[in-house]
Amino acid sequence: MWPAPPAAVKRRRRTTTDAVDNCTDVCLHGGVTPPPLADPRPLVQTGPDGRHRVLGRRCPTCGEVAAFAWPRCPACRGEVEPAAFGPEGTVWSATVVRIPVPGRTPPYALAYVDLDDGPRVLAHLAHDAAPPIGARVRLAAPSDDGDVRVEVLA
Ligand SMILES: [Zn+2]
Repeated sequence: MWPAPPAAVKRRRRTTTDAVDNCTDVCLHGGVTPPPLADPRPLVQTGPDGRHRVLGRRCPTCGEVAAFAWPRCPACRGEVEPAAFGPEGTVWSATVVRIPVPGRTPPYALAYVDLDDGPRVLAHLAHDAAPPIGARVRLAAPSDDGDVRVEVLA
């Protein structure tokens, strides 16, 4: 069992009806609350060129990027614009999951990928070996159930 967080960092679950001004000094999002999502995984779109991109938002004021549909910039609270990121990126970290998880058959590899022009996303790999940090990867078609997937570039 995990220890309870210190009282100073306890947060209530925020809703989209919370005003930005209600943000406290422990808010991790600069006072900007993302919309509630039934599925927190980023959406991957396949373009007419057959390349896959993660859909998200970019702030034209400060350049902040997010793989989610933030209503406002989490850094400067400015307006954000729809953006598509990828298809290539660099592995920031990777691991192989070897414990059983409902709906998953271990072992399988996961990687955090810094998309070249975008945010960091969690992605599955097609094989069960973790790529080295710094490996170049490309977004692949998402799994049937919506997992972001990448393939290691040669
Ligand atoms: Zn911004």
